[in-house]
Amino acid sequence: MNLHQPLTVLPGVGPKSAEKFKQLGLESLQDLLLYFPFRYEDFKSKNVLELEDGEKAVISGRVVTPANVSYYGYKRNRLRFTLKQGEVALAVNFFNQPYLADKIELGAALAVFGKWDKTKASLTGLKILAQTEDDLQPVYRLTQGVSQASLVKLIKTAFDQGLDLLLEENLPQVLLDRYQLAGRAQAVRAMHFPQDLADYRQALRRVKFEELFYFQMQLQVLKTEQKNVRNGLAMNWDQEVLTAKKASLPFELTEAQERSLREILQDLQSPAHMNRLLQGDVGSGKTVVAGLAMYAAAAAGLQSALMVPTEILAEQHVASLSQLFPELKLVLLTGSMKTAERRAALAAIETGQVDLIVGTHALIQEGVSYHRLGLVIIDEQHRFGVGQRRLLREKGLNPDVLMMTATPIPRTLAITAFGDMDVSIIDQLPAGRKPIITRWVQHEQLPVVLDWMAKELQKGAQVYFISPLIEESEALDLKNALALEEELKAYFGRSAQVALLHGKMKSDDKESVMQGFKDGKTDILVSTTVIEVGVNVPNATIMVIMDADRFGLSQLHQLRGRVGRGQKQSYAVLVANPKTESGKQRMKIMTETTDGFVLAEEDLKMRGSGEIFGSRQSGLPEFRVADIVEDYPILEEARRVASQITADPNWRQQADWHLLSLHLDRQDYLD
Ligand code: ADP
Ligand code: MG
Repeated sequence: MNLHQPLTVLPGVGPKSAEKFKQLGLESLQDLLLYFPFRYEDFKSKNVLELEDGEKAVISGRVVTPANVSYYGYKRNRLRFTLKQGEVALAVNFFNQPYLADKIELGAALAVFGKWDKTKASLTGLKILAQTEDDLQPVYRLTQGVSQASLVKLIKTAFDQGLDLLLEENLPQVLLDRYQLAGRAQAVRAMHFPQDLADYRQALRRVKFEELFYFQMQLQVLKTEQKNVRNGLAMNWDQEVLTAKKASLPFELTEAQERSLREILQDLQSPAHMNRLLQGDVGSGKTVVAGLAMYAAAAAGLQSALMVPTEILAEQHVASLSQLFPELKLVLLTGSMKTAERRAALAAIETGQVDLIVGTHALIQEGVSYHRLGLVIIDEQHRFGVGQRRLLREKGLNPDVLMMTATPIPRTLAITAFGDMDVSIIDQLPAGRKPIITRWVQHEQLPVVLDWMAKELQKGAQVYFISPLIEESEALDLKNALALEEELKAYFGRSAQVALLHGKMKSDDKESVMQGFKDGKTDILVSTTVIEVGVNVPNATIMVIMDADRFGLSQLHQLRGRVGRGQKQSYAVLVANPKTESGKQRMKIMTETTDGFVLAEEDLKMRGSGEIFGSRQSGLPEFRVADIVEDYPILEEARRVASQITADPNWRQQADWHLLSLHLDRQDYLD
């Protein structure tokens, strides 16, 4: 037996159920053992003296009379016995379940879930629990066709067969001792079936450490490898050309832009590999910094690729970059291009006729070969996983990589979480920006908002109108957006042009709707959240967000950042009747600050890291148990140890750490 064998080696698992378990990511025995509960049902027994009449609760105690079944009437019966909890004896009645008598053993401990009848001092039993006091029952995530009970049973079977003993220890003794961590097999068992809360906490501490430590080991190893790569590109360009270009821009760079640019250019010139994160709030001007870096690369005779998450964004970048950098030869590459168009673009890329390639995922697909790819820039990097980043990197001449994100991550956290990257931060907005004025109104006040909008529209303003977000249902999203479009059309009649943009549209259609808005033909753009990232229409000065409380702070901040891009005063109107305190709190904070970092931290506090660092978005690994924010102290400690260990280039040969090198390559945090 080894843990890489498929689940079908377990009794009761055939090919059909194996297929179902596979949907949960469970293929091997090891997958099963490491499939931890996402929560526990606390079947902690209550004190019978504290129960209210009619309350349902678990009461545990000792069985002090034998079970007695009495029959009355047709098929009806009652099973009765006495349970003693401490010094209190109570009657327990089960109706019409005579077979339970087998489970009731005189003198044994027993826990019963039931309904308390205070006047009769008796418990009407609903369920007998196999547990005694303080029991925590695991609750697993399920999928169609896999029940809680069947999963628990399967995991129990695995433990009964002693499979946990096959789990190899993967942390060196030195670390187990230093942090007083439980052994691996013991911790895994306790994760599934903790004896009590203390047992669970101890196990959790161990598995969290293991996870974050291996994550950090991988990052640190990657980082030291990159630092040691001297065969990266050392770019060389005429400094004066770049200085002249900077001077010819329509604006002066902010100090923060200058500093970030300097850091990036230094990396480009150095033979070491660049792996840098450029972080800046929406509107802070990351694009021009990226543009200047690509300009420098072109001056050094190298191609650059700019990868963005959506086609609209790609097109927009093409437009704004060709305006700021008309000298650069530029081509667009997206998935929806026609064959002939695509072929021409590919040829231009391969023969080196273009300096800059802007596109979506299409940039890393088969069939794209670059001439001399020296710089890769990934915009809104949180949408791309580490694996994709790596793919793009491998396509070039070991190119330098710059990632840009508008998700404000506190610096210390960024450094730890993206441990393999250097970080540059643009923490300053261009001069002369007027802070966006944000108001929160209730749905009942919408007519007032519309009246006000009508006046602003007369003055030539344009409006984004964001329709409510229905999580998990694109169909409902669309329905909402359509309804909103109709209402606005009815309200404004011929006085305003209303158009709709939503996620399900073909990219051609999206493009033409966006273009209409940019050109000012459309006054009101009704949209689902597809415009969230990067879109730039300076004349749009009003953003109305329906059911704003459905969004997280960071997301609202991103959305709001679509306005306030020109000289005119901009406004964000949040329409929401939040039901919860935290919803109200969020609306209030939005009206009080426009600082993305403050909002990000509030968001973290209120909603946990999942929303910001959710695996789909962050490009960070999905941890089984650890939470990057909540477990930050563990992460920080893990980083410290990992960098100490890897600082010695021969760490793999050291007795203490040898074990790590064996397990390191089998971990998959960076895929
Ligand atoms: P983001 O960081 O959100 O990507 P952009 O790069 O799109 O921001 O910049 C937002 C707007 O600000 C653009 O219209 C850009 O041309 C302009 N901009 C950038 N830097 C400056 C600056 N230093 N001074 C004035 N305007 C600037
Ligand atoms: Mg941008």
